[in-house]
Amino acid sequence: MVELLAGTSAACTLLRWYDDNRRTLPWRAPPGTRPDPYHVWLSEVMLQQTTAAAVAPYFARFLERFPSIAALALADEAEVLTLWAGLGYYARARNLSRAARIVAVAGALPRDPVELAKLPGIGAYMAPAIAAIAFDVPVVPVDGNTARVLARRHAVLAPLPRAMREIRALAAAFAVDPAVVARPGDFAQALFDLGATVCRPADPDCPRCPWQKGCAGSAAGIAATLPRKAVKKPRPQRYGAHFWLTDRLGQVLLRRRPSAGLLGGMSELPGTDWRQRPFSRRAALAAAPVKAEWRRLGVVQHGFTHFTLHITLYGANVAAIAAPGFLCASDALAAEALPSVMRKCCDLAALRASGGRAP
Ligand code: SF4
Repeated sequence: MVELLAGTSAACTLLRWYDDNRRTLPWRAPPGTRPDPYHVWLSEVMLQQTTAAAVAPYFARFLERFPSIAALALADEAEVLTLWAGLGYYARARNLSRAARIVAVAGALPRDPVELAKLPGIGAYMAPAIAAIAFDVPVVPVDGNTARVLARRHAVLAPLPRAMREIRALAAAFAVDPAVVARPGDFAQALFDLGATVCRPADPDCPRCPWQKGCAGSAAGIAATLPRKAVKKPRPQRYGAHFWLTDRLGQVLLRRRPSAGLLGGMSELPGTDWRQRPFSRRAALAAAPVKAEWRRLGVVQHGFTHFTLHITLYGANVAAIAAPGFLCASDALAAEALPSVMRKCCDLAALRASGGRAP
């Protein structure tokens, strides 16, 4: 191992840098120890589309409640979604639940990336990431950080997503380097850390980079412009109306979304479907759960992966609620599996109740 690291290959250089500069993260095993595969899997699922800083408290809470794959396999999906609420991309939580049940029956998480990729929610990126980090299988996973670092180091000029084929080939070439074969998990995490802390998206810190010597993007002065991206189409806009209905006890009417599809199984305030044109007040109120003196509380905007949603929120208070759905005490909303967009609606309703101005 010492001999391997004394080498001059780019992989050796990066691993030496990693040994001195690795980030301390809650899911990362201390140097020289093996990580818990469940922790690696859970962190990789949570880190999809989400930053390490945002994931850390969720990761801790999740492990406290579900300390093992067996515990997660026994859990009700609604409880898993409740612990996931606010992290977004809820299909991840549903897939995690389903996969935990499969793994619990099988006895252990598979080590082979091909077998890992067969589990719900573990795709082309995550399977090699878990295999490398949890089991030291010699593969190099390509996440956004790694793609950026490799595109810059090798001055890949093709735009994403077309460039991914070339970037994956560059990663695969590293996988056979003896230093990477000896420490695949560390090499994968070294690339993540280099991308997160040095080869940053907008401002690569090339003078501080262990790979500056040999970096074609830096030498050509184009590092910050890579990887190039195909021109994006305008982001689709969608519109909806939702209803904050309370009774004299301060309870709020909620309903459960269908288990399949966007935000499946999560709770929400009742409302319209989400469509491409805004709703007039009249069209919106046709979907109200009860007839009442509805007040317009304001508009909530929320970005999903493929569209931006604009929700007009209406509020009313009635003596007693008789409508489909279920009632939740307003001080118990924090424990509900409400997605971020619905939490924004609840925050807006609370703001208006306190006399604050709405957007
Ligand atoms: Fe990224 Fe600069 Fe390092 Fe090249 S030298 S890998 S562009 S930080």
